Amino acid sequence: MDSQPESRILFSRHEIEATVDRLAAELNRDYHGKRPILICVLKGSFMFMADLVRRLDFPLEIEFVRLTSYGGGKESSGRIKVVHSLQAPIKGRDLLVIEDIIDTGLTISFLLGYLRRKKPSSLGLCALTDKPSRRRVPVNIDYLGFTVPDRFLVGYGLDWGERYRNLPDICVLEEGG
Ligand code: 5GP
Repeated sequence: MDSQPESRILFSRHEIEATVDRLAAELNRDYHGKRPILICVLKGSFMFMADLVRRLDFPLEIEFVRLTSYGGGKESSGRIKVVHSLQAPIKGRDLLVIEDIIDTGLTISFLLGYLRRKKPSSLGLCALTDKPSRRRVPVNIDYLGFTVPDRFLVGYGLDWGERYRNLPDICVLEEGG
């Protein structure tokens, strides 16, 4: 097995659980009586999405989109394209985008613009983590889990070169990693 750089826990699985509970309560309040489409941004949001939806008590549908922006490194290239798009028609629907992390904001701004052009009746954003110190374009996050420092995070769905997604905690990759 090849060696892994060290990672240190930033938010434990218990803190994540409490935060997902809080976000679910906010969504259950706001989406009561609606039937939104939840859009999971692959790959990093898969674990957050799975934990979140099982706590939601209103009818909903699930879609997946996959965008490319990062390649295998740690910096956003700023070049984004849709690799896997929506299967369902979304005109006139309530949409809620589920994101793992908002960093420069370039990826989510691109996706929100892409979705807005398809004329949904509403477009919300739920992000597990936000790294505001690195923002390059403004982003309005409707439901936010954690504000995080300017460090590279892995675990709970987040990867570094496709590794670490399976860590149950949100961790910081130590320098040199
Ligand atoms: P943005 O376009 O906002 O700069 O970047 C958004 C995407 O970059 C996220 O969906 C995620 O895939 C990746 N990203 C940004 N910051 C981190 C980080 O700290 N760790 C990991 N693993 N991915 C990140």
